[in-house]
Amino acid sequence: MQQQKKQIAVIGGGIMGVALAYKLAQQGMQVNVYERGDNLGGLAGYMLYDGVRMDRFYHTILSSDTMMQSLMEEGGVVDKRHFTATKQGFYDKGKMYDFNTPVDFMLFPPLNFFQRFRLGLQVIYSQFESDWRKMDTVPVEKWLLKVSGRGAYEKVWKPLLRAKFDTTAESVPATYIWSRLRRMMGTRSGVTSKEMMCYLENGYYTLIEGLAKKCEALGVKFHLNAPIEEIVIENGTATGIKLGGQTLPFDAVISTLASPILGGIVPQADAAFRTKLAKQQYLGVMCPLLILKKQLVPYYVVNITDESIPFTAVVETTNLIDPKYVKDYHIVYLPKYLAPDSPIATWSDEQVKTEWMRHFRQMFPNFDEKDIVEFIVQRAKFVEPIRPMNTLDDIPSIKTPVDRLYMGNTVMIYPDLGNGESVTRFALKVVEQVTADAQKWPVKTQSSAVQTALT
Ligand SMILES: Cc1cc2nc3c(=O)[nH]c(=O)nc-3n(C[C@H](O)[C@H](O)[C@H](O)COP(=O)(O)OP(=O)(O)OC[C@H]3O[C@@H](n4cnc5c(N)ncnc54)[C@H](O)[C@@H]3O)c2cc1C
Repeated sequence: MQQQKKQIAVIGGGIMGVALAYKLAQQGMQVNVYERGDNLGGLAGYMLYDGVRMDRFYHTILSSDTMMQSLMEEGGVVDKRHFTATKQGFYDKGKMYDFNTPVDFMLFPPLNFFQRFRLGLQVIYSQFESDWRKMDTVPVEKWLLKVSGRGAYEKVWKPLLRAKFDTTAESVPATYIWSRLRRMMGTRSGVTSKEMMCYLENGYYTLIEGLAKKCEALGVKFHLNAPIEEIVIENGTATGIKLGGQTLPFDAVISTLASPILGGIVPQADAAFRTKLAKQQYLGVMCPLLILKKQLVPYYVVNITDESIPFTAVVETTNLIDPKYVKDYHIVYLPKYLAPDSPIATWSDEQVKTEWMRHFRQMFPNFDEKDIVEFIVQRAKFVEPIRPMNTLDDIPSIKTPVDRLYMGNTVMIYPDLGNGESVTRFALKVVEQVTADAQKWPVKTQSSAVQTALT
């Protein structure tokens, strides 16, 4: 008689699902991953244009993303990894400014000397603040006003907050800006040092592909075009999943889905849990991608302060990625994060193009439109969770109230921001919980004759 491997279903084939599958398979579990899309990657997935793989949404890995760096090594893709020093710009009243180091902040023309000084102080101050729970009770505006003052807040922080949180900015705690500043400063080693970012040839998906190959070698099975309709719950325990009307039995189920999606596929779970999942709100994103023949700006990202412009940044990824890896095209994303009730989410692609291009022309009057090869609208509904102040108790736990049903998603990584690094780090916590619990599950056995017939 042989002890059967624990059978685990992972729902969702984004970076979290793939990292989970990899780490669970290393622990000797039999993992099946179910992804509703026709490819792995989720938000970090790709699109094809002219035979070239491009990130659906701009994605970079920071030099300080240690978990991502080691996954690249384990996924066998380090030979496709490149580091580049990138620059950031700021667009204010029709002009573009360098906005990189605290020294740039000190020279930032839209602010007077005193405002610049306080802005630099804010960045430094955030590096010394360590009690994020305390900051969860402080409105972001109050926290920024205290050190930066009104002038720098109105000209710099407010537009940045609007860019990231749309109309929900006022309800977010200080933790968000603190978390962001610390992540960005982590990519530099000194006050004047340049920001180091990293990319993979053929995009972020190269990492997912490399990890998926390692997973398959460990026996993981990936199922694409596989939207899970329901998680089967019997007597308070998850016993399997439903796909195409069929029930598939498992020892445990792990969801990596956005909370409201998970809430919709657990009709047998208790109402309080489903309500908790359903009420979690997310910012969406409208993110047109321009494929150009020429470089637009010399920056990786330009933050925009002008509130009349619908997009809040210009992200030219080919200032990070060598254009030779994308057939010498230049790729620019014009994102706008959307509050859950934003009317822009309902706009047609054509409407988005008309409105975005109207402002693009005003912002870049000298850019020849003949150099625009394509305008492709990408959008997503569940991107960045919105966590209002004092709502830490609303964050779900890895172990759900349903026995053998586990969850991991960006709602749970707070106070970190949603990115490959934080998500894959969180995957480790999920694996730890599942492997600890699995010790207590009843051992199933099968005769070696059956085992041989199955393999
Ligand atoms: C515009 C933008 C820019 C970003 N830039 C960066 C960056 O520069 N660096 C960085 O590290 N991160 C970046 N991120 C964040 C990063 O993409 C996410 O944090 C990460 O991809 C989240 O991964 P995930 O696996 O948790 O979720 P997701 O990628 O959302 O994966 C969930 C998966 O579940 C699938 N699914 C949903 N319902 C079902 C179902 N019923 N059955 C089966 N499957 C289902 C979905 O199709 C999806 O593939 C960016 C995100 C956006 C939108």
